[in-house]
Amino acid sequence: MTQLPVALVAHAIVENGGLPVLNPATGELLLRVRDYGADEVDGVVARAEAARHDWAGQTARTRATVLRRWFDLIIQHREDLALICTLECGKPLAEARGELDYAASFVEWFGEEARRAYGETIPTAWSGKEIVVTKEPVGTCAAITPWNFPLTMITRKAAPALAAGCAMIMKPSEETPLSALALEHLARQAGVPEHVFRILPSSDASGMGKVFCTHPTIRKISFTGSTAVGKILLTQAGSTVKRTSMELGGNAPFIVFADADLDAAVEGAMIAKFRNAGQACIGTNRVLVQREVHDEFVDRFTARAAALVVGQGLDPASQIGPLITEEALHKVQALVDGALSEGAQLACGGSRHNAGAQFYTPTVLTGVTQDMAIAQQEIFGPVAPVMSFTDEAEVLRIANDTRYGLASYFYTRDMGRAARVFRGLEFGMVAMNEGLLGTEVAPFGGVKESGLGREGSHHGMDEYMELKYRLMGGLAS
Ligand code: ADP
Repeated sequence: MTQLPVALVAHAIVENGGLPVLNPATGELLLRVRDYGADEVDGVVARAEAARHDWAGQTARTRATVLRRWFDLIIQHREDLALICTLECGKPLAEARGELDYAASFVEWFGEEARRAYGETIPTAWSGKEIVVTKEPVGTCAAITPWNFPLTMITRKAAPALAAGCAMIMKPSEETPLSALALEHLARQAGVPEHVFRILPSSDASGMGKVFCTHPTIRKISFTGSTAVGKILLTQAGSTVKRTSMELGGNAPFIVFADADLDAAVEGAMIAKFRNAGQACIGTNRVLVQREVHDEFVDRFTARAAALVVGQGLDPASQIGPLITEEALHKVQALVDGALSEGAQLACGGSRHNAGAQFYTPTVLTGVTQDMAIAQQEIFGPVAPVMSFTDEAEVLRIANDTRYGLASYFYTRDMGRAARVFRGLEFGMVAMNEGLLGTEVAPFGGVKESGLGREGSHHGMDEYMELKYRLMGGLAS
């Protein structure tokens, strides 16, 4: 077996007990790491709270320099981090490298943004007074992250928090604590003070979540994961009126109009659907194709999907890795079976793949309708349901007929239509003629039950800062 770069996570390894971390491609045990209990959070928070004032008191330039060093170390350890990511979450190594670069970009970006946390001055209606608005760090923050982008989910939250002068305590997914721990190790080397950034792997997700949300010292909770858990956390966080950022589920439509460049649309659909074996909240859940080009699109898309190479992420030929758990595979299978029993047709796939217990064959379904469970729920697997539509009004109605509002995609060459569709789609992110939209420079986030707040871009810093209005009187000479 390829050697896990244990040096990066050595600070958390335990020999017995602890939290077992498994390789989803093989089911084998990778390592055991320390399993934190909810009763340990109080001490960690107290130490973070004591340490954060020093960190916030550093100049923005100093914090920026530390973050830049963290970024450089992440890039220096690119291969090791990508390997850890593949081993614990299953994605092909090429995708893990891509994720690593994406994860690192947030550290670089927010290090730069640390120096641009500008306030403002406001003209007053009073003489002898001046108004200045400053941006202050929120305080000690906590975050809970999922397994599907185990590197990015850490940096996209920790980097803006640290840049703003906050302390950050994070519980990574119990499936993928190693990527988070490796990033913590490198942050330490870069000079992030020990208590200001802590990773707490735990098998007690609900216990940790409750303490994070109800602890009076923690001033902010940031979460990425399912809408169901997000709602629990929002309710709990209400007890202490905490600031919250929620990146929750999605149900992304991918719309192909008849005037689209079909080659580009097929290419985009492959990325929007099959990246990370379909396990992404911005992955497309519904491919909506205008009737005139439906059959041709389906033929080309199906040929590409059927040709995808399924296998272990360490095999350079692999394009589709395993699903994260067997339970996830059963859920995908149930959605496919349900759609087929309600009248959908199989264009390719439709069953487990013989690469291993958790591998699913890339699947294309046609004849899917909006009332089927597969069109309403997040699939989180390599399954593309295709629907046919007649006109712009109909497709906008179908696309928006969901409680989610995260990412959406459309393909057209008609600029008038583009303007209408950009306006009409009720989603936090809309991509035209592109199947991939994540970048550190743009605000990532959703509307409706997909969440609250934005990550990345200069708006991402605001999630970790409070405005302070300073009225300065007595200035008349
Ligand atoms: P996913 O389906 O993406 O795994 P989850 O919402 O179940 O989404 O998990 C995302 C993160 O939320 C993980 O770190 C998980 O441990 C954590 N989590 C799960 N249930 C709870 C809960 N009741 N309270 C707090 N965190 C939770």
